[in-house]
Amino acid sequence: MDIILTGTGSPLPDANRAGPSTLVKAGDTHILVDAGRGTVMRMAGAGSLPGLLAAVLVTHLHSDHICALNDVITTHWIMTQGNGTLPIHGPPGTARFVERQLQALEPDIGYRIEHHDVLTEGPKVAVTEVDPGRSFEVGGVQILTAATVHAPVKPTIGYRLEHDGSVAALVGDTIPCAGVDQLAAEADAYVQTVIRRDLVELVPNEMFQDILDYHSGVIEAAQTAARVGAKRLVLTHLVPAPVPDQYPDWVARAAEHFDGEIIIGDDLTTITI
Ligand SMILES: [Zn+2]
Ligand SMILES: [Zn+2]
Repeated sequence: MDIILTGTGSPLPDANRAGPSTLVKAGDTHILVDAGRGTVMRMAGAGSLPGLLAAVLVTHLHSDHICALNDVITTHWIMTQGNGTLPIHGPPGTARFVERQLQALEPDIGYRIEHHDVLTEGPKVAVTEVDPGRSFEVGGVQILTAATVHAPVKPTIGYRLEHDGSVAALVGDTIPCAGVDQLAAEADAYVQTVIRRDLVELVPNEMFQDILDYHSGVIEAAQTAARVGAKRLVLTHLVPAPVPDQYPDWVARAAEHFDGEIIIGDDLTTITI
């Protein structure tokens, strides 16, 4: 299984980091987890395309994690020439979000149907709203879900993907909680969105300080990884985004609490498990 960080950024615009998303390739099955800013461009860099996706998994409906979903849907529609159906799984509220995306795209959909004989209808999506705790299967990949904690964003869902004996936990934005522990237990790779609590605390901006109460810090992610026996900790959604010179400091802070491999992501970093 390859885990490719298709976006390691956050809501803060960054020239080098797309918004949050991760692509999992399990054999021929491509699964996208979240679709932040620039996702489709990074998918191309990762040797994938929306038309190849077996499913999109949405962790929560914060805009930074879903703002490129319309691009994924439209590109999937065009590249499959209207023949494919894109499965999207996400928390309750996902169906309404997708429906409204399609409404917003109505002019474009109309133009393309009018222009291309091969297109007779708009994008086909199959949205499944997932109650936390449910498991399902996509293209030979077993997927377990659990509730995460990112209040006031509710509900939020993390995913555990198992294929051929390999396990990846992609838990999204969350503070440490029982759901994350369950999903990341003995995972080959535990991918956690993180902030640097110590650095965020230094920024004298109330709105920025607000993020402290609903994200895992680097140290908390490392403590979770150690507690659940994960083999690798992958840090993504980095706030504030570090430059490469600062990576050793981020890793050292995590390494004080976790003995396994620690990976700090650039966009398109690939972890093979
Ligand atoms: Zn969020
Ligand atoms: Zn986020």
